[in-house]
Amino acid sequence: MEERDVRFVRLWFTDVLGFLKSVAIAPAELEGAFAEGVGFDGSAIEGYARVYESDMVAHPDPSTFQMLPWRTQSNTARMFCDISLPDGSPSFADPRHVLKRALTKASDMGFTFYTHPEIEFFLFKPPVVPGVEPTPLDTGGYFDHTTLGDGTDFRRDAIQMLERMGISVEFSHHEGAPGQHEIDLRYADALTMADNIMTFRVVVKEVAVSQGIEASFMPKPFTNHAGSGMHTHMSLFEGDNNAFYDASDVYRLSKIGKHFVAGLLHHAGEITAVTNQWVNSYKRLVGGGEAPSFICWGRNNRSALVRIPMFKPDKSSSARIELRSLDSAANPYLAYALILNAGLSGIENEYELPEEAADDVWALTDRERRAMGIQSLPHNLDEAIALMENSELVAETLGEHVFDYFLRNKRQEFEEYRRQVTPHELSTLLPRL
Ligand code: GLN
Ligand code: MG
Ligand code: MG
Ligand code: MG
Repeated sequence: MEERDVRFVRLWFTDVLGFLKSVAIAPAELEGAFAEGVGFDGSAIEGYARVYESDMVAHPDPSTFQMLPWRTQSNTARMFCDISLPDGSPSFADPRHVLKRALTKASDMGFTFYTHPEIEFFLFKPPVVPGVEPTPLDTGGYFDHTTLGDGTDFRRDAIQMLERMGISVEFSHHEGAPGQHEIDLRYADALTMADNIMTFRVVVKEVAVSQGIEASFMPKPFTNHAGSGMHTHMSLFEGDNNAFYDASDVYRLSKIGKHFVAGLLHHAGEITAVTNQWVNSYKRLVGGGEAPSFICWGRNNRSALVRIPMFKPDKSSSARIELRSLDSAANPYLAYALILNAGLSGIENEYELPEEAADDVWALTDRERRAMGIQSLPHNLDEAIALMENSELVAETLGEHVFDYFLRNKRQEFEEYRRQVTPHELSTLLPRL
C-alpha cells in the first residue's frame, strides 16, 4: 500500500439480492480492520439482519486486494470482505459465506468447483430513462465487427481494465441483439469467479460512464430482441484431474459428470428463483433467442438447459458442462452455491442422466414434450417461488435466514408486478373493450 501510495481502501461485500456494497477506509485503519473488522449497521443492508440484531462486522480478505484502475485522482484499492456477527461467528446473511459453505462440502467430497461464465449485457445511448425503452448503442448482430465508437472500443477498454485487476478474459464479441455484447472470463474456482463477476459488473458500468454511454445487465430489456444470459461452463476437479473427463465415454463425460448434470436437471426448477431472480428474468426464458425454456440436456442443442460441449479428446482439462439458464443479474454467490449442491446431490444419489433431448425442443408440441418427460422451467417468478418454497436443497444451501428473506422479498416483487396494468394491455385491449 505504501509503495502504491494508496489513499483509500474500499471494503466490498454483496447483499442478498446481489448488489455490491462498499465502505471506504483510510489506510491507517487497515491494521485494525484486519484485527477486528469494520462494524456496520446490517439492518440497512438488503437481507442482512433484523433491526434488533443489526450489528455486523466486515473482515477484509487480503487475497482479494486489487487497485481500482478507474480511480485515477487518488489511488484506491479494494478487498472483498467476509461478514461476521460481533461474536465472530459468520453472518448467516453473507452470500459469500453461503458459497463457502457449499464449497466446503464439495471439498469434503474431494472436489474443487471451477466455473467460466459468458457474460452478456447491453450498451445503450444516454440517457437511459426509467420507464422508457432504451436505445441500443449500435445496430450490430452476432459476431458483427462494428465500427469504432460502436462498442468495439468499449470492449477493448473494459477487457484491459479487467486484466489490470487480475481477471483474465478469454473471448469477447458482439452478441445477437443490437447493442448487446458478451465477454467470457477465463475459468477460475467458483469463489474467485463470484468475486470476479461482482468486479466485472462494476468495471463494465465504470467504463460505460467514462465513455458517456450506459451499460445494463437487465435480463430482457427488449420485447423483440434476445435477452442477456450468463451461460456458465463448469467442472469438478479432483486435485489436478478433471473429474468430468472420461476418454472412453461417447460424450467423453465421466459418471461423475453425468450424475452432476442429472442432479442439475433434477433440481433445476427449485433453484430457478435464484439463478433467474427478477420478474424480468422470465421474459428471457420464454422468448426463444437461444435462452432455455425446458429442463433437458443436449450436445449441440442451444435450446437445452444444459449443453455438453464437444471438447478435444487431448484436452481432458477442458471437459465441462454448460448451464444456460443463469442470467447476468443473478447473485453469483447464491447461484453458484445452489448449482453446486444440485450437482453434488446428483453425485451422492447417483441420479441417472435422462436421454439427450431432440434437436429443437421448442419445435415439439407440449404433448410430445410431456411424453418424453421434459418439463418446463418455471414460467414466471411466481412459479419459481412456489418450487423454491418446497425445496429442501435450497433451504439447506441458503440457510434459514437467506431462504426466508429471499422468498419474502421475491413474493413482494411479484405481487407488485402482478398489479401493474401494462402497455401491452392498453394497446391490445383498450381499443377493443
Ligand atoms: N442471449 C442468449 C441467452 O439469453 C444466448 C445467445 C448465445 O450465446 N448464443 O441465453
Ligand atoms: Mg458465448
Ligand atoms: Mg452468448
Ligand atoms: Mg454459451
